[in-house]
Parts: sequence; structure tokens; C-alpha cells
Amino acid sequence: MHFPQNRRYNSFVGYFKEKYGSRLQKIVVDAGFTCPNRDGTISTGGCTFCNNDAFHPSYSTSEKAIIDQLNEGIVFHQKRYRNASNYLAYFQSYSNTYASLDILENRYSQAISHPLVAGIVIGTRPDCIDNDKLSLLKDIAKEKIVIVEYGVESIYNHTLKRINRGHTIECAIETINKTAEYGLDQGAHFIFGLPGESKEQMLNYAQLINNLPLNSVKFHQLQIVKNTPIEEEYNKKHEDFIEMSLDEYIDFFIDFLEILKPEIHIERFAGEVPPRFVNKTPWGKIRNVELIRLLEKRLEERDTFQGARFSR
Ligand code: SF4
Repeated sequence: MHFPQNRRYNSFVGYFKEKYGSRLQKIVVDAGFTCPNRDGTISTGGCTFCNNDAFHPSYSTSEKAIIDQLNEGIVFHQKRYRNASNYLAYFQSYSNTYASLDILENRYSQAISHPLVAGIVIGTRPDCIDNDKLSLLKDIAKEKIVIVEYGVESIYNHTLKRINRGHTIECAIETINKTAEYGLDQGAHFIFGLPGESKEQMLNYAQLINNLPLNSVKFHQLQIVKNTPIEEEYNKKHEDFIEMSLDEYIDFFIDFLEILKPEIHIERFAGEVPPRFVNKTPWGKIRNVELIRLLEKRLEERDTFQGARFSR
């Protein structure tokens, strides 16, 4: 199996370069949306792991106009990634389809009107979308790149209940299948290490993902963010949380990759919340590029690749 950039897995960055001819850098945008799991529609507590501040770059706050967030984000990234020439506005904070059609159209249009913005990435919950919103995204996709990114988090309803997610895995599956009917490019986000899940149970995520019409997936190891309900749960029921050293996590992820369908793009396999937000940093301070380097080194050592044990 050949993967872009001679990697041993199907990286999302490689996909972008191959498909669009250049690196596309995401610029996080906070469009001022909220979330039904916070505003009382589903619950007021939110998902037990959630603290949106922990995932926000400093240039992105809802008090600033979307265009200003984009301009500041582009300046920030131009210093870091000189080879990025096109950008995607990443609607990341809260649930970015959780508003009326008029409001959504207004917010998305502000982003795509920016001359350096090649498209939008819309992070949302699987229960916050409907046919009208999918039609709107499909219309935008005729002109610009549109990627919908669903937070699925776990494939197990007992876990989704425990983390107060407020939707089921069946809801996520139905939404992902429906999104595919609209021809939209879509990805999903999962967390490894949620309470009560064993390594075997986490490996089973791959079977479900293999059967979904997803173009990309993104994973994070669970990090215990300060002042969240999960921090309290972790302190009380520590034994319910699987803890992996960085080496163990990389080996676990490679086991996972081996059973994952080779066509699925990996956008991220782990990530670090800024240390000031977490109650501990078991892997030390480690940057994303270093995580990728370690994953690639271990794939070489094990002489394996994404899909090595996948059977159709
Ligand atoms: S993780 Fe997303 S869905 Fe859950 S409470 Fe936070 S913003 Fe809402």
C-alpha cells in the first residue's frame, strides 16, 4: 500500500498536499456559538472532559470579528509554517451548526469571503445537524472546501452516558451516513482512555470506523483538564482510567492502525493541551511534530503500516 509522502499511514496533511497541491493550514475561529449540552437544551454541565478554553489559541475569541480572527491567525501561522499559502477557517469552539440557518450562513460567509481562505471546517455534535444545514454546507462546497468534523468520542453508549455526552453512538452513525448522502467531506473525533474502557474495547473503535463513510479521523488521548467533572471522577475512581506511557500509547495506536482501513486519513493521533490547563502532564511537554516522529520511528521498527491487519 502506498501512502502519500512515503509514510506508513495515510496522513491528512499528505492528502491535502496531494489533493490541493499545497499545505492547507487551519485557522481556529470562534463564531460565538454555544452548545446544547451546556445551554440547558440537553444539559447544563457539558461533557465531563470539556473546557473549551483549553483548546483555544489566543487569537481566537468570540469578541473579535471572524475576519480579524482570521487575519491574526494567518499572521501567527505565517511565522511558523512559511510554506502554507492557503487556509481553512476552522470553526472549532462549541457546536458550530447550533444556530438558525440565517446565522450559520452569515458566519460561514464571513469566513469564506476572506481571500486567503480556501474553505471551512465545521466542528459540531452529531445531534446538531439536519437536512437544511447539510444542504447549506453542500451549496458552499460547490465553491469552497467544506469539511464537517463530528465529535463522536466513544463508540460505547455506556461511556457516552458516563461522560454526559448527551447523544448515542446510533445518533452519530445515522448523522455520518446522512452527511455522506450529501457528498460532504467528513471526519470524526474520538478520545482514547475514557473511563471504564480497556485497550481491547478501544481497538474495537476501528471496526466501527471502517464501516462508516468517513474520510478522516482524529484521536486524542484523554487528558484530565483542570476544573472539569472528569478531574473529580479521576481523583475518586482512578482505577477506572487506563493510563499509558507515551511508548505504550504509540504501540497501542499502531495496533489500532493495523486494523484500520487504509483509505481513512489520520489527521491526528494524539495531542497536548497546554500544560497550564491539565492536572498533570504524564508525557512531559511534547510537541506534535515530535509525537509524529516517534510514531513513524516505531512503525519502522515494527515494520508495519496502517491496514496491515485489515481485511475487507
Ligand atoms: S465537548 Fe463540545 S459538545 Fe461537549 S460540552 Fe464541550 S462544547 Fe459541548
